[in-house]
Amino acid sequence: MGDAVSEFTLPEGCMLCGGAVSIRTTPGSGAHSYCAHCHWLSRTRLRMHKNGLEIAYATQALA
Ligand SMILES: [Zn+2]
Repeated sequence: MGDAVSEFTLPEGCMLCGGAVSIRTTPGSGAHSYCAHCHWLSRTRLRMHKNGLEIAYATQALA
C-alpha cells in the first residue's frame, strides 16, 4: 500500500543555504522539508515525473 511515511534526502535542495534537505512525505498531510544545516523547515509539494521528482515549496522567496 502507499500509505507509509517515506523520507529521503535531497542534495542541495535547500533554498536558503544550498545544503541537503530531508524530505518527509506523510499521507494526508503532504510533504515537509527540513534542512539540518540551517534548520529551515517548509512544506513542500511533490510531483512525480517520468524523469524524476519535482519539488515545489509552499513558501517561495520573492527575491
Ligand atoms: Zn539550509
